Amino acid sequence: MAERTLFQKIMDGAIDADIVHEDEHCIAFRDINPQAPTHLLVVPRTPIPSLDEVTADDAPLIGHLFVVARKLAAQEGLSEGYRTVFNCGAHAGQSVDHLHLHLLGGRPMEWPPG
Ligand code: AMP
Repeated sequence: MAERTLFQKIMDGAIDADIVHEDEHCIAFRDINPQAPTHLLVVPRTPIPSLDEVTADDAPLIGHLFVVARKLAAQEGLSEGYRTVFNCGAHAGQSVDHLHLHLLGGRPMEWPPG
């Protein structure tokens, strides 16, 4: 059986996290190393390794992650705006091989990102 990912261990309760949302399809929790006043990770329960491995069958799930992110942005009071990011692969700095949508907000952000 494949090794459980870090985020599966958070879902299982084996590793503690500040969980802000849970449903049948995904979980969201605060990033342990926040890059903005609000920095949440929205993570599908299915351990898809990265955006590069998403298929057309995953489209509803990917859409769901964004709907959850939008609700969480409202819950966090991010009325001035926010950013959602999928880091994919080495050049983007992906460090956990379990798909996750970053939700960042609470400060002005620059573009292009570093
Ligand atoms: P990425 O670099 O896009 O793969 O994002 C992985 C994110 O997971 C990083 O922002 C890390 O700070 C975050 N992270 C790593 N370990 C934990 C943890 N135990 N709890 C919450 N967030 C974590």
